[in-house]
Amino acid sequence: MAASKVYFTDFSARKEPLQRKLYRLMVAAGIKNMDFENKFTCIKLHLGEPGNLGYLRPNYAKTVADLVKELGGKPFLSDANTLYVGRRKNALEHLEAAYENGFSPFSTGCHVIIADGLKGTDEVEVPVAGAEYCPTAKIGRAFMDADVFLSLTHFKGHQSTGFGGCLKNIGMVGSRAGKMEMHSRGIPSVNAKKCVGCRICGQNCAHGAFSYDSGKASLDEGKCTGCGRCIAHCPTDAIQCKWDEARSVLSKKVAEYTKAVVDGRPCFHVTLVMDVSPTCDCDTCNDLPVIPDVGMFASFDPVALDQACADAVNAQTVAKGSLLDEIVREQGLDKPKGEYFRTMHPDTRWEDGLEHAEKLGLGTREYELIEI
Ligand code: SF4
Ligand code: SF4
Repeated sequence: MAASKVYFTDFSARKEPLQRKLYRLMVAAGIKNMDFENKFTCIKLHLGEPGNLGYLRPNYAKTVADLVKELGGKPFLSDANTLYVGRRKNALEHLEAAYENGFSPFSTGCHVIIADGLKGTDEVEVPVAGAEYCPTAKIGRAFMDADVFLSLTHFKGHQSTGFGGCLKNIGMVGSRAGKMEMHSRGIPSVNAKKCVGCRICGQNCAHGAFSYDSGKASLDEGKCTGCGRCIAHCPTDAIQCKWDEARSVLSKKVAEYTKAVVDGRPCFHVTLVMDVSPTCDCDTCNDLPVIPDVGMFASFDPVALDQACADAVNAQTVAKGSLLDEIVREQGLDKPKGEYFRTMHPDTRWEDGLEHAEKLGLGTREYELIEI
């Protein structure tokens, strides 16, 4: 496979506003060659867990949405509900979090749609060509209803996948059941201390997996299919995903979910390497960036894009006082002796996800970097 083109511009903005640079970057990368005329265009992004200030400012989303509108499209911002218990676990709280973080029609020029509906159960089962783990992927319906799919990604570290880049952003299009499939080996657990015995879980389980002999919910793992419905319906958050999938397999499943949503539709990807915190924007706080801000990248190839961003991060000096700096100094070194993300998250290997994505035909890790 020939190398893919990845376009790049840095954050120097003495002569030109950053939003204008982002616009120029997308145009240089070829977005105007896509047909947006009257097309519903999903801009998949992370709206930020409240408390975390590392997520991308809404202004960047506005630049993307305005360009889509200029090209005749109908943009909307979208993410799916979380599997973990936080402030984005159902559509109402998720929208409140989005507004609190500044993503409103006034700031971005378009609406936010929570793609998998009120409780994370509005999904489409999509075949995954060439899948090793997920023959079908459970994708939030609004993602699949979009005619054109764009990703706008904040590149940062991630405790489970090494870094959270374009593939991770896209892979989280999974509904609650989809996220269960990626993050766990399939069966949730019940926290008896939180269970109030209301039996709502049993009323929503199509497989009769719950019993209540002790007055509290008990789950029969032999009957459970891991659909995740009970997690969505439990009013006390007593039912939780076990988060027990191997990290390497999680990265590969993320690639398979990405494949499901991008296959057969026009796609384009933008990633900003800034505020590179050690962990994901799902955390309720964001630690100091581990490197200086790098710049903005755009490509039609999500694999090449992630590889280019990872290489760019690893070429930076480590920011003083950051977690990475602390780890390196504890090791008695001047700089990391290896790859930055694995230095911070030693039991991860992000290359597994990219290699699997290459196998699935999502793109190539070979890229040509074109600076504008
Ligand atoms: S829905 Fe939650 S609180 Fe109610 S019985 Fe089931 S586990 Fe317990
Ligand atoms: S995950 Fe689905 S099948 Fe399993 S107990 Fe919950 S509702 Fe039932």
